[in-house]
Amino acid sequence: MAEKSFKYVIVGGGVAAGYAAREFAKQGVKPGELAIISKEAVAPYERPALSKAYLFPEGISLILSTEIVKADLASKTVISAAGETFKYQILIIATGSTVIRLSDFGVQGADAKNIFYLREIDEADELVKAIKAKKNGKAVIVGGGYIGLELSAALRINNFDVSMVFPEPWCTANMYVFIVPRLFTAGIAAFYEGYYANKGIKIIKGTVAVGFGTEMGKDGTVLEADIVVVGVGGKPLTTLFKDRLTRKRVGLRQMVITKPAYTKKSPNRFDAFFKTSVPDVYAVGDVATFPMKLYGETRRVEHVDHARKSAEQAVKAIFASEQGKSISEYDYLPYFYSRSFDLSWQFYGDNVGESVLFGDSRPESPTHKFGSYWIKDGKVVGAFLESGTPEENKAIAKVARVQPPVSSLDQLAAEGLTFASKI
Ligand code: FAD
Ligand code: NAD
Repeated sequence: MAEKSFKYVIVGGGVAAGYAAREFAKQGVKPGELAIISKEAVAPYERPALSKAYLFPEGISLILSTEIVKADLASKTVISAAGETFKYQILIIATGSTVIRLSDFGVQGADAKNIFYLREIDEADELVKAIKAKKNGKAVIVGGGYIGLELSAALRINNFDVSMVFPEPWCTANMYVFIVPRLFTAGIAAFYEGYYANKGIKIIKGTVAVGFGTEMGKDGTVLEADIVVVGVGGKPLTTLFKDRLTRKRVGLRQMVITKPAYTKKSPNRFDAFFKTSVPDVYAVGDVATFPMKLYGETRRVEHVDHARKSAEQAVKAIFASEQGKSISEYDYLPYFYSRSFDLSWQFYGDNVGESVLFGDSRPESPTHKFGSYWIKDGKVVGAFLESGTPEENKAIAKVARVQPPVSSLDQLAAEGLTFASKI
C-alpha cells in the first residue's frame, strides 16, 4: 500500500479540524502541506446545526471515509483501516467525541430499529427520514441533557407525542463531563420543565431506561414509541493515541494534556498551546484536556466554541514556533448555549458557589427573560441568561470575565440584568 507524506496531518474531520484548516489557510499553508483524515464521508461541518458549512480552501488534502486505526507516534505515522500509511511532521488530534450507547450500560434491546443517536450527519439524515415516515407518532427521548432538551423540542415541533425520560431530579445541561454540579439549578430547570410541559411534552424523571421491546423504566413503566432518541452523553475518542509512544501506560490526562498543569505556585509551567506530552503532537477540541487559566485548573470542554478556538490557537502556536515567535496563552472563558422552541440561553463562566435567580422565570412568562448568577468568595463568577439580546449576552459574558465583587445576594437578585449592564 502506498505511503503518503504530509507536513501537517489532522486526524478527525469535525468542528476543530474545520477551524484548524481555516487557520492554516490564514497562516499561509502551502498546497500539499496539510491533510485532514476523517472517517466521515463529508468535509468538516458545523455540528451544532448539523448543517454543512464547508470551510475548505484549495490545496488541502481532504482524505474522507478513512478511519485511522493505528497511530505510531514514535515513527510519526498513522495508518488507516484500509492499510494506507500517512506520515506527518506535525500531528493534530481532533477526533472529538462519540456517543455513549445504552448498550454500554447493558440495556436490553438497545440496538433495536428506530433507536437513534445523534453525532454525525448520517445519523441526522436517518432521524429525519424516520420522522417523516412516522408522522404524528410517539417519541421517547432518553436523557435530560442537551440532546434530550433539543430533540424533545424538535420532535414536538414535528407533531410527535413526546416523553422525556432521565434519571436526575431535574433536566440539566452538562458543562464538564463527570463533574457535578451540572449547569441548571433547580430554579432554572423548573422554567424549562414547565415550559416543555406546557408544550405537551411529558417528563418522566428519576428513572432510567432498562430495556426496549419489553419494558422501559426501572419503575416498571412501559412507554410506547415509534422513535426513540438517546442522548446520554459523549466520551472522547482518544484510545487510538494511548500507549503508543513509550509502551508505558500513558494516562489520558498525561497523553492529551499540554504539559504540567498551571498552579498558582508555578505559573510559568503553564502551557496553553495545545501541545501534548508527545513532541510535535497537538490535541484540540473535545479530546483536549487543557489548563484553564481563569480558574487555575485543567479541564476538558465538549463544546463548539472551545473546539473552534482551541484549533485556531494550536495552529497559531505551530506557525509561531516555526517562525521563532510566541503567541499569547489560551485564556478561555467557558461559554455554553442552547436553543429550542422560541427559547435561547447563554452561559458564561463557572457555576460554582451560591446562585441567585433573577427576572421572570415563570414557565408562562410572556418574555421568559430570566437568568442566574453564581457567586463565589464574594465575586460573581458565572452568569446564565434566557432570551437575552446580543448586548445583554455581551454584558453577562463581561461579568463572568471581570468577576465583580458583590455584597448582597438579595440586592443582586433584585438588580438582575441591571447589575451586568453596569460592569
Ligand atoms: P467532532 O466535531 O466530533 O469531530 C471529530 C471528527 O473526527 C469526526 O469527523 C469524526 O468522524 C472524526 N474521527 C474520529 N475518530 C477518527 C479516526 N480514528 N479516524 C478518522 N476520523 C476520526 N456544542 C455547543 O457548544 N453548542 C451547540 O449547540 C452544540 N450542538 C451540538 C449538537 C449535536 C447534535 C452534537 C453532536 C454536538 C453539539 N455540540 C454543541 C458539541 C460540539 O459539536 C462539539 O463540542 C464539537 O463538534 C467538537 O469538535 P471536535 O472537532 O473536537 O469533534
Ligand atoms: P449530556 O451529558 O448533556 O446529557 C446526558 C444526559 O443523559 C444526562 O443529563 C442524563 O439525564 C442522561 N442519562 C445518563 N444516563 C442515563 C440513562 N441510563 N438513562 C437515561 N438517561 C441517562 O449529553 P448529550 O445531551 O447526550 O450530548 C452529547 C454531547 O453533545 C455532549 O458532548 C454535549 O456537550 C454535546 N451537545 C451539546 C449541545 C449544546 O451545547 N447545545 C447540543 C447537543 C449536543
